[in-house]
Amino acid sequence: MATFARPYVVSWNLTYRCNLACEHCYLDAGGKPLVDTENFADRSELSTAECFEVVDQLAAFAPEAVTILTGGEPLLRRDILEIARYASEKGLWVVVGTNGVKITANLAQLLKDNGVRGMALSLDATDRNRHDAFRKVRGAFENTCHGARILAESGLPFIVQTTVGLHNASELRALAALAHGELGATVWNLYFLVQSGRGQFVTDLDPQRYDAVLQDLHDIQREYQGRMVVNAKCAPHAVRTLYERDPQSPLLRTYADGAGGCPAGTHYMGIRPNGDMTPCPYLPAFAGNVRAERIADVWNESPLFKDVRRRDELGGRCGACEFSTACSGCRARAWATTGGNLLAEDPLCSYEPGAHPEARVLLKPALSYGQPAQASLAWEPEAEARMKKIPAFVRGMVVKAVEDRCRKDGLSLVTTAALDEIRARMPVKPPFATR
Ligand code: SF4
Ligand code: SF4
Repeated sequence: MATFARPYVVSWNLTYRCNLACEHCYLDAGGKPLVDTENFADRSELSTAECFEVVDQLAAFAPEAVTILTGGEPLLRRDILEIARYASEKGLWVVVGTNGVKITANLAQLLKDNGVRGMALSLDATDRNRHDAFRKVRGAFENTCHGARILAESGLPFIVQTTVGLHNASELRALAALAHGELGATVWNLYFLVQSGRGQFVTDLDPQRYDAVLQDLHDIQREYQGRMVVNAKCAPHAVRTLYERDPQSPLLRTYADGAGGCPAGTHYMGIRPNGDMTPCPYLPAFAGNVRAERIADVWNESPLFKDVRRRDELGGRCGACEFSTACSGCRARAWATTGGNLLAEDPLCSYEPGAHPEARVLLKPALSYGQPAQASLAWEPEAEARMKKIPAFVRGMVVKAVEDRCRKDGLSLVTTAALDEIRARMPVKPPFATR
C-alpha cells in the first residue's frame, strides 16, 4: 500500500551511553545494564562512516524523513554535529532527542549551524528531587530546565516530553504549566510508558488509571488550545477518549486520513546503536541490521515489518473495535505483554468495542497522510517557501487543507496573508514553522 511505501519518522538511537540513568529507559542506557536478554546483548555503536551510509540510504529511500537523533544521550557522541550536518545536507529533517543536561549557548548555536531543526527535552516531574531521583543524577532537573531556557533564547525550537507513570500521573497539570509557563515550550508530548528495556521494572498505570490520565490530558489540551500543542504519544486509544468526550472535537482531525493510530512499521521505524532495525524503538524485535542489509529491503520485505502492518488481523478487542483504524492499540505493548504477539490486543485499553459503531465511518483510514503535495491553485513564492518548512509527510495534507480554505474564501492565489489568517483560526497551532 502506498502509505507503507517509506517511513516518515525514523528514531535513531545513536548510543547506549548516557549521563543519566533513568528508571524507565526503554534502551536500558546509561549506568549499569539491567536487561540481559539477547536483544540487548550487542551494545556496539555504528562508526561515523557507517552513520553516513545510513543517512545516504535514508535520504534515497525516505527523502525528507524526520530523523530523530537520540540515545542514550546523543550529545555524548563526538561526531553528533558531523552526523547532523551530513543528514541535513542530504535533506533529512533532523531533530535531536536529549535529556538537555549538556546544552550550552555555544552548543545550541552549533546544532543550529549544523542543520538541526528542533530539539526534544525530557522532563518527568516538577519537583527537582523527584526528577533527579527518577533520573538517578543530582542536578538533572536544574540542568535540563537551564538547557530549555538556553534553547528558547537561541531560537532553536524545542518540545518538552514527559513519560507518564504512577510516579507523576497526579502532577500533569503542573508539568504542563512548567513546560509552557516557565520554559516556553510550544509543544508538550506526554509519552505513555511501554514496558520495554528498564521500563519493564517500573510500575505502570493500570487501565483505569490510564483512562483517568487520558481524560486529564484532554482537559489540559483544551486549556492550552492555541498556546501549546499537547499530544498523547504511544497512547493510540487517546482517540477513543477524545471521541467519547467530544465527538465534534477539532482535535479528532489529527487522527483522520491515516495520521492517527500506532505508526510502528507503517510510518515509523527505529534504528538501534548497533544498526538493528525495528518497527518502533520501544519494540525490541529486529528485522535486520543496517551493517548487513539495505534499509529499503528490510522495510519492504522483512517478515517483522510485514507482520506489524497486518492491522486488519488484530486480535482480541482491538480486532473487534470500531476505533481500530484510527487507533489499533500499541503494538509494542501487545508484544511485550504476550511474549511476542505483535497483533494481540493492547492490554492497557479498557474499552469494550461496540458502543460507538458510527466511529468506524467517521475515523476512516488512510487517504492523504504522507501523500506528496499537489498544488492546484497558484501560490505566491513566499507562501510556497513556507510550505517547504513543514515536514514532508504532512505537507500534502497541509497544502490540500490550505487550498480548500482559500477556495471557500473565494481566493485563487495562496498568499502569506491567507496563510497567516488560516493559522490564526487553527484550533491547534502546528509545531513546525509556517511563518
Ligand atoms: S508500538 Fe506504536 S504506539 Fe506503541 S510505542 Fe511504538 S509507535 Fe508508539
Ligand atoms: S480496543 Fe484496541 S483499537 Fe479499540 S480503542 Fe482500545 S486499543 Fe484502540
